Amino acid sequence: MRKVLVLEDEANIRSFVVINLKRAGYDTLEASSGEQALELVRANPDIRVALLDVMLPGIDGFEVCRRIRADNSKIGIIMLTARTQEMDKVTGLMTGADDYVTKPFSPAELTARVDALYRRTGGEPVMDDGIIRQEPFMLNTRNRTLEKNGQRVKLTQVEYAVIKMFMDNPGKALSRDEILEAVWGRDYFGEVKIVDVNIRRLRLKVEDDPQNPTYITTVWGYGYKWGF
Ligand code: CA
Repeated sequence: MRKVLVLEDEANIRSFVVINLKRAGYDTLEASSGEQALELVRANPDIRVALLDVMLPGIDGFEVCRRIRADNSKIGIIMLTARTQEMDKVTGLMTGADDYVTKPFSPAELTARVDALYRRTGGEPVMDDGIIRQEPFMLNTRNRTLEKNGQRVKLTQVEYAVIKMFMDNPGKALSRDEILEAVWGRDYFGEVKIVDVNIRRLRLKVEDDPQNPTYITTVWGYGYKWGF
């Protein structure tokens, strides 16, 4: 499993991070204090990337970073810093962090950083096997199939293309025009309504309750979003 440690004392930020990493196919371990994070790193040598919040009660994120680095040079470390703390970047990198993300960050930005670092730390690329895992979904880009909870979801090629676009952009609001152009092509001579019709049909196939969609959500007056 692709293990990522998330150290963040604020429960709502932590769960936001964890949900998005899980959706991107990572296995997460959570810590709310630096001490707890160090214990988890010791107990789980297969953790490949650690996200460390800086401001914590007890030992701070920099100290956690320094202690992890003292006997582990392989693990990838991303600091979660606040916008107001300009010096965090320098300090974090000085203590051995590989990257930093400034709060507030979008799910897409966060997972992109984790993916990049995961690859750099020697992990197999996310797309290596052609599989995109976002629980409960698994998209196989080789044979163009979708599974939900291990059950095959039968899709048309157009529906597949829409889902692929969503799963490539988790948490990102996509405009109807953007979807139309990506899936139907620049030359498509028709109405943007075709997007809505396909989304409606897709919801019947992928949502637990199509009347109250949670995977494909509507961004009013704009388009759609996969997740949040
Ligand atoms: Ca904090």
